[in-house]
Amino acid sequence: MKLIFYFLLLFTLYSCGTNPYRASEKSQKTQLKSLKETVSKKDTLGLGSGIKSEFISTVNFNLRKPNYIILHHTAQDSIQQTLKTFTLVEKQVSAHYVIADNGDIVQMLNDYLRAWHAGASTWGKTTDINSISLGIELDNNGIEPFSELQIKSLLALLAKLKKDYNIPTQNIIGHSDIAPKRKTDPSMLFPWKLLAENGYGVWTDPIIRVAPENFNAEMALRIIGYDTKNLPDAIKSFKLHFIQTEVDSVLDQKTIDAIYDIYLKQ
Ligand SMILES: [Zn+2]
Repeated sequence: MKLIFYFLLLFTLYSCGTNPYRASEKSQKTQLKSLKETVSKKDTLGLGSGIKSEFISTVNFNLRKPNYIILHHTAQDSIQQTLKTFTLVEKQVSAHYVIADNGDIVQMLNDYLRAWHAGASTWGKTTDINSISLGIELDNNGIEPFSELQIKSLLALLAKLKKDYNIPTQNIIGHSDIAPKRKTDPSMLFPWKLLAENGYGVWTDPIIRVAPENFNAEMALRIIGYDTKNLPDAIKSFKLHFIQTEVDSVLDQKTIDAIYDIYLKQ
């Protein structure tokens, strides 16, 4: 009896001490193996119509690099909740990085791999944002301010990623920018201005230029990257990012001037 008790105690201690993410680590390893098989395939095209094709291996290649950074807030109450979500197969969502309230950074996927953070999104003519971007999630419930430590870590991470992959500053944007109406993260409390002051993303000049009379705000929004199929939604997304004090779809002079300013920075 005593022996069983000690055995159970040992088992409990062992379980508590093990990595709760062991299963997801194993699963990621298996998926990496399968990806290796995928990229090693040398199937011929098989286009038919008498078109001859063959595979001759070039020796000059490497991996494709991310060219955008998409920022998110998790809309969850704790980072543990987010980490759990991103390690469960059935959730089908992930990000490359999660930054905790205290500034700690958790990397969940190699930068060269495609995380599932953008969902159905478009920016300019690009419809597969996940394939060209890195996703950074900030642990934030959506209504609280972002902590100083968290933003400090974000700035350090952006500095590294922007340099490593030569990412244009205009390509550091929010989830709400690429999915108007469907997404509203990061929230109006996100310090986009501070980011731009540090060289990440763009922001309006302190003295805003007045847009010319014949300025076409809809076209400019489209040139910046917004999906303008539903113009009020695109305006609202723009205001969430660049005006923040008013998040609505009213296209007043102040908004037109801000669109003009950001348009000039493309
Ligand atoms: Zn998001």
